[in-house]
Amino acid sequence: MDTEEVVVVGGGPVGLWLAAELRLRDVPVTVLEARPRRSPHSRALTVHPRTLEVLDCRGVVEPFLAEGVRIPSGHFAALPERMDFRPLDTPFPFTLSLPQARTEELLEEHAVRRGARILRGHRVTGVEAGTDAVELTVEGPDGTYRTRAAYVVGCDGTRSAVRESAGVAFPGTPATLWAWMGDVVLDAPPAGLAVNGPRGQLMVFPLPGGVHRVVGNDPDTLRQARPGELTFEELRDRVTAIAGTDFGMRDPRWLSRFGNATRQAETYRQGRVLLAGDAAHMHFPAGGPGLNVGVQDATNLGWKLAAVL
Ligand SMILES: Cc1cc2nc3c(=O)[nH]c(=O)nc-3n(C[C@H](O)[C@H](O)[C@H](O)COP(=O)(O)OP(=O)(O)OC[C@H]3O[C@@H](n4cnc5c(N)ncnc54)[C@H](O)[C@@H]3O)c2cc1C
Repeated sequence: MDTEEVVVVGGGPVGLWLAAELRLRDVPVTVLEARPRRSPHSRALTVHPRTLEVLDCRGVVEPFLAEGVRIPSGHFAALPERMDFRPLDTPFPFTLSLPQARTEELLEEHAVRRGARILRGHRVTGVEAGTDAVELTVEGPDGTYRTRAAYVVGCDGTRSAVRESAGVAFPGTPATLWAWMGDVVLDAPPAGLAVNGPRGQLMVFPLPGGVHRVVGNDPDTLRQARPGELTFEELRDRVTAIAGTDFGMRDPRWLSRFGNATRQAETYRQGRVLLAGDAAHMHFPAGGPGLNVGVQDATNLGWKLAAVL
């Protein structure tokens, strides 16, 4: 069993960016990603100015800017007043709207160009940290195997197997409210819509490929302790109740709900096991903090771990 320098568990945006950052200092790094293929559904759309600055520092911001839509204001925590990014002292005084699946593709291309090894269809089921190395148990396409690493970084999302296996607690508060969202075709889309009133909050914005994202919450869903799966009919009714129209909604591509559970790992490092991104912290995605702060985690961790190695 060879010992890898660093194994990054999870090939989401945070794991991919961390791998590229480690490769900047020539650290051998392998990313183990459970999914054989990337999900076509994009949770995140909003890329913040600081993330663009970080991408620019590495000379890779151009393809993001070329494909994303620049929006000069954003909302923070769904407060009624939108934040104006234009006065910020940055070359990127806007948020960039780019589907997460595409962001991940661009990050993966960058990591691979830098020399990271990315293995898909490899699910980590256990980590055992010793004084000199960490042993991992992995379910791969050809069965279960064991491997070793000098350091393991869990970038494996909110349900992180690395965090659980390392025995790191994830205290916080469970969801007390639920929002709904759908990626749908709209025959009569609004020019750009954000409603925030007594009947609820609703935002509608275009995605590539003739699809719109419709996302919101209302007093009724806020009361639901744990709602079931969102149906297209329910989405249409809830949008109509807020906006007075369903905008000619049809052909749902993705329907989902998300809650405001808020948790943070009690430590980001336990010996040779580290955590970054959603594995380390989770919160309501209003305003788009998750991917953005996760990229900052990876930027911060990358050079430090490389320096230790
Ligand atoms: C509706 C919604 C909208 C959002 N909008 C925004 C937004 O606009 N802007 C923003 O910044 N954030 C947004 N977020 C949050 C953002 O999507 C996440 O914060 C971000 O994806 C976190 O990245 P990550 O790499 O830490 O984790 P993830 O993206 O969850 O990636 C984890 C990866 O690890 C893999 N994995 C899991 N377990 C294992 C295992 N045992 N072994 C190997 N691999 C494993 C998974 O398959 C996955 O690929 C939104 C979230 C939601 C739900």
